[in-house]
Amino acid sequence: MAATIEPSVADVFAWLDAVPDPEIPVISIRDLGIVRDVWWSGEGMERTLTISITPTYVGCPAMRVIEADIVAALSARGVAHTNVEMRLAPAWTTDWLTANGREKLRAYGISPPRPRDLAADPRALDLVALLGTLEERAACPRCGSLDVALVTRFGSTPCKAQYRCVTCREPFDHFKAH
Ligand SMILES: [Zn+2]
Repeated sequence: MAATIEPSVADVFAWLDAVPDPEIPVISIRDLGIVRDVWWSGEGMERTLTISITPTYVGCPAMRVIEADIVAALSARGVAHTNVEMRLAPAWTTDWLTANGREKLRAYGISPPRPRDLAADPRALDLVALLGTLEERAACPRCGSLDVALVTRFGSTPCKAQYRCVTCREPFDHFKAH
């Protein structure tokens, strides 16, 4: 029997970077920070790749879609046995969004959540210095203006608030930190 080449964990992470988040398809599930762990177990024909994911909130309906997308993506790369494991603790936080993911959100027109750990994002520190407050404020993702008005606390999804930029007049969603 020919030896099969087993993809490395790094390869698997790179492939998962091509699986879009069903709710915000401009970012991948890896950008979203929900992929917590990847490992191989078992022997021979039973060799299984397990992907551990943490839902963005408990009961998130998108998780079933994400699970099916992961299995399909890995199957397309020749992985015969994939097991997707839900890890509920610790709970997901917007701090797990990667720097890349935040930039993609901004480029798409969604103001990214401010990191709860301010040191993780120099822009957040600049904003705090400018405003003199630690309170979370949205900045217009299009023109960068801080002159924004809250339209509704709940935007297209409960995790987003809707704002309108006073400077360029564009409405935008802000992904709330939690
Ligand atoms: Zn603007």
